[in-house]
Amino acid sequence: MSDIVKILPIEVSNKIAAGEVVQRPSSVLKELLENSLDANSSKIKVIIKNAGKNLIQVIDDGDGMSIKDMHSSFIKHATSKINSIDDVFSISSMGFRGEALAAISSVSMIEMTSSKNLENEGYFIEMVGGKIINEKELSLDKGTSIKVKNIFFNVPARRNFLKSDFVELRHIMNVFHNIAVSNHEIEFSLINNEEEIFYLKKESLKKRIISVFGEKIREHLIPIKENTQIANLNGFILKPEFAKKSRSNQFIFVNNRPIKSQFINHSISSSFDGLLRDGYYPGYFLFINMDPVKIDVNVHPNKTEIKFDDDQSLYSIINSAVKHCLGIYQISPVLDFEKDSSMDISYNQINTDPKIPSIEVDSEFNPFKIFNEEDFIKKDSNLELSDSLSYANEDNKLSSKIFQIFNKYIVSTSKSSLIIINQNLAHQRILYEDFLKSIFESSSESQKLVFPIEITLTKSQLILFKKITTDFDSLGFVYDLSNTLLSISSVPSQLINNSIEEIIEDILDDENIFDKSKNLSYSDFFAKKLSKSSSIKTGQSLNSNEQEFLVNQLFSCKEPNLSPDNKQIFITLNKNDIENRF
Ligand code: ADP
Ligand code: MG
Repeated sequence: MSDIVKILPIEVSNKIAAGEVVQRPSSVLKELLENSLDANSSKIKVIIKNAGKNLIQVIDDGDGMSIKDMHSSFIKHATSKINSIDDVFSISSMGFRGEALAAISSVSMIEMTSSKNLENEGYFIEMVGGKIINEKELSLDKGTSIKVKNIFFNVPARRNFLKSDFVELRHIMNVFHNIAVSNHEIEFSLINNEEEIFYLKKESLKKRIISVFGEKIREHLIPIKENTQIANLNGFILKPEFAKKSRSNQFIFVNNRPIKSQFINHSISSSFDGLLRDGYYPGYFLFINMDPVKIDVNVHPNKTEIKFDDDQSLYSIINSAVKHCLGIYQISPVLDFEKDSSMDISYNQINTDPKIPSIEVDSEFNPFKIFNEEDFIKKDSNLELSDSLSYANEDNKLSSKIFQIFNKYIVSTSKSSLIIINQNLAHQRILYEDFLKSIFESSSESQKLVFPIEITLTKSQLILFKKITTDFDSLGFVYDLSNTLLSISSVPSQLINNSIEEIIEDILDDENIFDKSKNLSYSDFFAKKLSKSSSIKTGQSLNSNEQEFLVNQLFSCKEPNLSPDNKQIFITLNKNDIENRF
């Protein structure tokens, strides 16, 4: 039996940037899963308790470790994966820094068992805060199991800094999604608080994406494939209709390593130009394979950032590949919702001779007779009447002369100034105060839907949904949940004309939900979220009644100046401001 874990020379370890590996339970999960992948596992089981705060366990059937390797694995910069700094620049394993287990074990309680399957010889080590408190021989099947319990038990400041279970669980799911999608040939299961959330058999990439994200993603997957000298691309781009308000469907892998890259996101998004509504992000599972010598993974301890030797070429390759694949897909008549119909020439016009345009003169036209006099007088007196009515008393009372410009602003006047109101922000403020009131006074009015709305949640949306059900109730949602099918029979009355499915997905996909550090309460978060998604949008034309209603409602709000996100809702121009412009 050969021992393979060795300590890197200090000069090598110094070259590897220092930093923190463990930020939260999901970073532990990521490191443990990466170790199982590097150990050639074919089956990996994940067990989570309390969003990983109490337990993160990863069990694999991989190569396993010898007793000596198990001991060495907890020493800083002990790794079996590289020998010299040169290896860092041609890395093919997920790990190489040899610091994850050392870091994790110093802030948690660990139980590790492992066997290399030499006659089921196995070993057990129990550690608290980096110190071994118990060890013994055991008879075990090949593979390794690591339990990480009570993360940050000895660093109370860090433990308190952990977010709500909802947030931590979202991070955990995100790590799991990334690893499960990029390793479709490996069997995975995920158990959260005794409940099996995922059991994923070995399957094709497409099937794996569907198993993880649910059946409804199937029809939105457009394959992408492009081989160039710099990089090979493959994977799937999601159809523009499947774009979301969050970036939760954006997955990039370089040599199968999940990474984050703004320039790649940008390159893909710009290929979608004109195909997405404002504020929506495209979805993709993009696998980039390239010579490891041309990239540097050792930018950050968490190994999710990569430096590319030639990022400009990569940018254009990705950009054109995505355009190409969207182009092919658009040939099929299903989509093209943004196509400019004026570009179409109908077939019966193609074979007819063009008509010569003629000039028509109206000989009766009198340029000085714009209005007929009676009309003019009538209009003018109307004007005076409405003016004197609205300007009569208070200075700031809004006049009835309200109009909309650019389908975006409502313009109104008072005696001393001109007010320009952003319709979207104004409506957000109105709804926000309305929602808060319903939540706090439990006075939410629900409206029964004629046809219940059925939404199939993905499995991870489902476990997140279960965390927020009480808030849903207090808002006035009435629903039934069976398996992943959510049937909503009543909704808060403010939401009646909105896409409920979109609103709920928007909430479940939001990365900022209930961020304690920002002093947000669930209720406030919900009220903001709902008011944003159900507000009148920019671009929506409003009739005069609607305009008036909006203005009146805004000025009866407690805080009419600022939107829920603290943006200015309206500007006022007084006489001086205007005169100064001349
Ligand atoms: P790195 O992965 O960067 O080498 P780690 O601290 O994550 O550093 O792990 C240290 C060593 O422990 C690894 O190099 C590997 O040899 C061993 N190891 C950790 N987890 C496993 C596992 N699940 N199966 C087999 N060996 C493992
Ligand atoms: Mg590792």
